[in-house]
Amino acid sequence: MGKVYLNGKYVDQAQAVLPITDRGLLFGDSVYEVIPAYAGIPFRAEQHLKRLQRSLDAIHLKNPLSPGQWEEILERLCSEKAGQDQSIYLQITRGSYEKRSHRIPEHVSPNVIAFSSPITERDPSIASEGIKAITLEDIRWKHCDLKTTNLLPNVLALAEATDKNADDAILIRHGEAKEGTSSNLFIIANSLLITPPDSDQLLPGVTRDLILELARESNIPFAQATINEQDLKDATEIWLTSSTREIAPVVELNGKPVGDGKPGAYWQHMDQLYQAAKQRIRLQAKNGGQS
Ligand code: PMP
Repeated sequence: MGKVYLNGKYVDQAQAVLPITDRGLLFGDSVYEVIPAYAGIPFRAEQHLKRLQRSLDAIHLKNPLSPGQWEEILERLCSEKAGQDQSIYLQITRGSYEKRSHRIPEHVSPNVIAFSSPITERDPSIASEGIKAITLEDIRWKHCDLKTTNLLPNVLALAEATDKNADDAILIRHGEAKEGTSSNLFIIANSLLITPPDSDQLLPGVTRDLILELARESNIPFAQATINEQDLKDATEIWLTSSTREIAPVVELNGKPVGDGKPGAYWQHMDQLYQAAKQRIRLQAKNGGQS
């Protein structure tokens, strides 16, 4: 790992330490973002920073940095490994105080951390063979639209999926499929691309938005509609999407094939559109940042 941003300074990872009373650690009192950068250019940074602001507003924490300061951090972290594909992690905690108390202190001084990690090329077997998923009851809280670090239910659901020889879990609340443990959900049903509607039960994914935008531009019929367990079983394609995973085709659900058990034609089309959008960023990097 290159330098880590910690409260205004760029330090080595070993020096990037916070007090044990940090509220992110003690209470999960913090929010975060993960932003991919291709060839040194952050992808959809504006949308990620907007969602960060939304999460901060919802937990009543003032953004400690201006958009310009965030952009500077992204630029600096990207330049650490010039030209390489990176994912940039940002986290803001409500700070560390002498005494552990649930009560939010009167004067808040947040802690800000940011670092980048390399994005590895997608495993070719994902495109050729797809991934496996299981369904699990969604036991998360009622504000899954916020990107907070309260991720224990997500972590445990992924562990259960892994134990059952699957790559991810699709979370079901009151009989409706919402999203993956760290991804959004799409299905193809009767030639229609469907994703569950925006609500407090799923994260408004930046990749999800991009896919809807690409569908609109390419006249692929789509809808935001409830997906129940039967719809999942009947779907001819299922996709799980995120900034780092991109669009993963699910070919097996609860041990049964999805469609013909191979990544589907709609997935192939959307993946091409998505890869082309990424390619435009790489070209922009080649042209010295000009689009
Ligand atoms: N849902 C959850 C619960 C997630 O953690 C993520 C990953 N951030 C997503 C959906 C996908 O969001 P994005 O496309 O913005 O990465």
